[in-house]
Amino acid sequence: MVYCQSDKEKLHPVSYELISKASEFHGMEVVALVLGNSEDAEVLFNYGADRVILVENVGSYNLEVYTDVICKIVKKESPEIFLLGATQLGRELAPRIAARLNTGLTADCTNLEVNDGLIYMTRPAFGGNLMATIICEKHRPQMVTVRPNVFEKRENKKLGKVEKVKIDYKESRIKIEEVIEKGLKETDITKAEIIVSGGRGVGSKEGFEKLKEFANLIGGVVAGSRVAVENGWIEKEKQVGQTGKTVRPKIYFAIGISGTIQHLAGIHENSFIIAINKDKNAPIIKMANLAIISDWGPVIDRLIKRKIEK
Ligand code: FAD
Repeated sequence: MVYCQSDKEKLHPVSYELISKASEFHGMEVVALVLGNSEDAEVLFNYGADRVILVENVGSYNLEVYTDVICKIVKKESPEIFLLGATQLGRELAPRIAARLNTGLTADCTNLEVNDGLIYMTRPAFGGNLMATIICEKHRPQMVTVRPNVFEKRENKKLGKVEKVKIDYKESRIKIEEVIEKGLKETDITKAEIIVSGGRGVGSKEGFEKLKEFANLIGGVVAGSRVAVENGWIEKEKQVGQTGKTVRPKIYFAIGISGTIQHLAGIHENSFIIAINKDKNAPIIKMANLAIISDWGPVIDRLIKRKIEK
């Protein structure tokens, strides 16, 4: 079973990624679970769902109501495996559901494999210094969260009809008065095709302004390492890495970033990395598809000038 998060009646992209991944598990039925109004629940059949359950009577997200309803459905359907996206909402829901169902939870997995009904859940451990593969032998369901952009969304057409259900739930003590949008949509780094990412080597907030100017010229967005976030040069929402976001751009500029394992954990392997670093021995240089060994400032100045002249 996959919990398919829906935001403003549209399914979150991670829902398609998880359904696609689940449909690779041999001999298992894939059940998509959608709560609230979702106009595209039916589309999940195109990505490998065998069944789609839509709980119609719950309204928009409310932590207590969603936890209650999801637990009721999981108890009724008894899935062997239950997957959720490690979005902010998924991270809030998953541990509560796991605790109520008295099962374990492996969060932020980067790979999943199924063998004989047992799911092998791989995630970074010990500060990202090693990858741990975890199994949950006794308790069911085996619960996992996976970050957006880790798995591919793949078409795998199946036929079916959305099962619309109504579930009784306890009235919530939480009341949502108003939802205030942060207005970050246009610079969502997880959806960007070109990312200009800066690290400690960029040196200042002014340096990041220059990266922004360059990013605007080439149709990209600016992101950063944890050091850049901690120094207040860029917002936390734009941090790439193990404790930030996983990105899947076509081109990733790593500027003044050393390339620690925790940072690289957030960059999809298919991304083309262009590193600008003055240290030829920095780990990012080995990872990069193209490396420029230089102080970043003059390089970016020249690229901006070239682009403006064109
Ligand atoms: P540094 O490692 O200090 O590298 C700076 C680089 O800039 C160097 O390679 C240097 O040669 C180069 N440089 C300096 N001046 C110039 C110049 N003028 N021109 C060109 N190059 C220059 N980090 C993340 O990024 N994301 C995470 O999500 C994350 N999660 C973490 C989770 C845990 C549990 C832990 C323990 C750490 C985590 N970190 C994360 C931190 C990570 O270990 C590193 O500290 C961090 O990534 C380093 O950032 P940096 O590359 O910007 O800085």
